[in-house]
Amino acid sequence: MKAIKISYEIVCAVATKSGTCPICNKNVSRKTKFEFTVNPFNKNSDGTVKTKKQVQEELDNEIKKWLPDFTHEKCKTLKSILDEAYILKTEHPSKDCRHFANNVYNFLKKEK
Ligand SMILES: [Zn+2]
Repeated sequence: MKAIKISYEIVCAVATKSGTCPICNKNVSRKTKFEFTVNPFNKNSDGTVKTKKQVQEELDNEIKKWLPDFTHEKCKTLKSILDEAYILKTEHPSKDCRHFANNVYNFLKKEK
């Protein structure tokens, strides 16, 4: 059996969006690559194969819909430590625990 390699045209775009980290309020920009192929399996509801222009429009729509997470990884970690410290501080008020949690809580609050 002979194998035939078929290559399809690729429509791609690199999208960049900027926003604000909800925790530290700094500006963040996120970048991602979108890639769609023009191929005979990519059809419209009426059964016709999508044209390059239609695939391009679809890609533009995907970019419009794309909602990146602007929260920094570092901020997510900091927030979870803060939350944990807060829970410890309020829900486990045994002396040692409270002392420790208070320290962590105040330290992180200052760092922020
Ligand atoms: Zn941040």
